[in-house]
Amino acid sequence: MAGRFSRRSFLKTGSAAAGATLLSRHGLGQAAGSLHAGAEQLSQFDYPDVQLLDGPMLEQFRANLAFFLALNEDSMLKPFRQAAGLSAPGDDMGGWYSWSDEFDPPNNMTGYIPGHTFGQYVSGLARAYAVSGDKAAQEKVNRLVRGFGETISPKFYVNYPLPCYTFDKSNCGLIDAHQFAHDPDALKVLAHATDVALPFFPPGPLTRPEMAARPHKNISFTWDESYTLPENFFLAYKRSGDRRYLDLAKRFLQDRDYFDPLADGKNVLPHEHAYSHVNALCSASQAYLVLGSDKHLRAAKNGFGFVRAQSYATGGWGPNEAFVEPGSSTLADSLHSTHASFETPCGAYGHFKITRYLMRITGDSRYGDSMERVLYNTILGAKPLQPGGFSFYYSDYNNDGQKVYYPEQWPCCSGTFPQVTADYGISSYFQSPDGIYVNLFVPSRVNWKHGSSRIALEQKTDYPYDDHISMRVHADSPQTFTVALRVPEWAGRNTSVAINGSKAGQEPQAGGWLKLNREWKDGDTIEYAIDRPLRVEAIDPEHPKIVALLCGPLALFAVNAPQSRFTREQLLQATRRSGREWRVASAVAPVGFRAFPEIRDEQYRLYHEV
Ligand SMILES: [Zn+2]
Repeated sequence: MAGRFSRRSFLKTGSAAAGATLLSRHGLGQAAGSLHAGAEQLSQFDYPDVQLLDGPMLEQFRANLAFFLALNEDSMLKPFRQAAGLSAPGDDMGGWYSWSDEFDPPNNMTGYIPGHTFGQYVSGLARAYAVSGDKAAQEKVNRLVRGFGETISPKFYVNYPLPCYTFDKSNCGLIDAHQFAHDPDALKVLAHATDVALPFFPPGPLTRPEMAARPHKNISFTWDESYTLPENFFLAYKRSGDRRYLDLAKRFLQDRDYFDPLADGKNVLPHEHAYSHVNALCSASQAYLVLGSDKHLRAAKNGFGFVRAQSYATGGWGPNEAFVEPGSSTLADSLHSTHASFETPCGAYGHFKITRYLMRITGDSRYGDSMERVLYNTILGAKPLQPGGFSFYYSDYNNDGQKVYYPEQWPCCSGTFPQVTADYGISSYFQSPDGIYVNLFVPSRVNWKHGSSRIALEQKTDYPYDDHISMRVHADSPQTFTVALRVPEWAGRNTSVAINGSKAGQEPQAGGWLKLNREWKDGDTIEYAIDRPLRVEAIDPEHPKIVALLCGPLALFAVNAPQSRFTREQLLQATRRSGREWRVASAVAPVGFRAFPEIRDEQYRLYHEV
């Protein structure tokens, strides 16, 4: 990956406008004053506009919705009620979520950040309501917001190790409750919650060394993430019009230590905490969108380029939750030194957000290539949440890898999982005045208006296990617009498109959009076949002989054969078995290879020394 997706080539085209018409945002942000919002090439659909159809993504979304609909509300509110000295019925959820005298970081993490994921559970339910229209989700959001509002008290943050971290999640939950579940109280509750939390915040964003230099009760007080606050403050400002949130967003932009050097092309990622610093790139994207700050857009693009250059073939990054030094052996060493290879639900959530932002802003289709790798090779293979809050956390790319649950209950990844699955639909399509952009090839239906006509596009596919994607247009009346299809950068020369059975005039160009502009009428069909040649990718430029096998966006893992050795040629001659298994010859016996979602509890191996 490092070779194919070098920072340089990505930046070069990342700045090209991809030929789409310029859009500008007309949110509250512009109405509120003299701000000049940053331009976007593409815009995002609203949650209700996209419906997933039967398939693994819909299954994961529904499982998460059912899980959080069933979660006990008294237990969810308990840490806040206890801190406020209110009656607090219900069981403790335990793990990271409940107050505990056992907490002794880093040895005992029980009681780590009480109530930390509450806002993410509310956010996940609010988005899920917008996606599905499930009234039970909306009613639960309304009850939780009301219940949370009654508990707001400064006592919650006294001796609390990560006030910014937990407030940021609560902020997200409340603005999503307002925006997506139309909660009547959420903004009022947010204003009160902000009043109460602010005295516990530092004057500006702090790095970990700066936190370590301050007096701290234990090491967990040096792990707060004040630098991730701006994204949700910008959104709170856009959704409420209250300029206090705008001022707070600006106050916590980590310019000096992060965005200024990134904007100048300086890689300051090594050794930083991985997920929170990708999340911070989303704050930089919002600074561009709300303030029109080109510096912050450069920081987001360059920062993401540095992340890409140190990613695994799966699209995941950050072994042991830290970015590595380019040119060092850290990534290759991680294949035998750790099982904590990629923080999956959180990392995928952040990765989906930053690639959506950058795709909207630049129009570059390759952000979608990156998103789909993370989709198929990481989050879609996450084990489902278990009652009791046991969650999938790390994808394991150790040469002796296996899928396991995180030992602590209710970790961060239990909060981001329902958020990212609710975002699957809005990540699949984008819009511009000239038409629709199909980013993910997933069973789904998108609805929009073109002129006076209601249009829908429906996809049916078993991609990426099959090369074929069938689309059908539904339209009230014939309309002229563009259907743009993402052509992945790895797409082979046999990639083809037919409209109503006849080959389309344009030739697909790998790494761009194939734009089909014509008069579309009801019942028109598009048949898109993406040629997915087998290829191998080295883990980094320093280790050209440590490679992973890929087919299209899928990284293929050798299953139950940790000691097998392959040649490069053997890998590239993998044959497809029936179903979803590939077979590769080795010196001893043929070995089965599978994609991450097809692996259960088997031992597996991603990288091979050829
Ligand atoms: Zn996490």
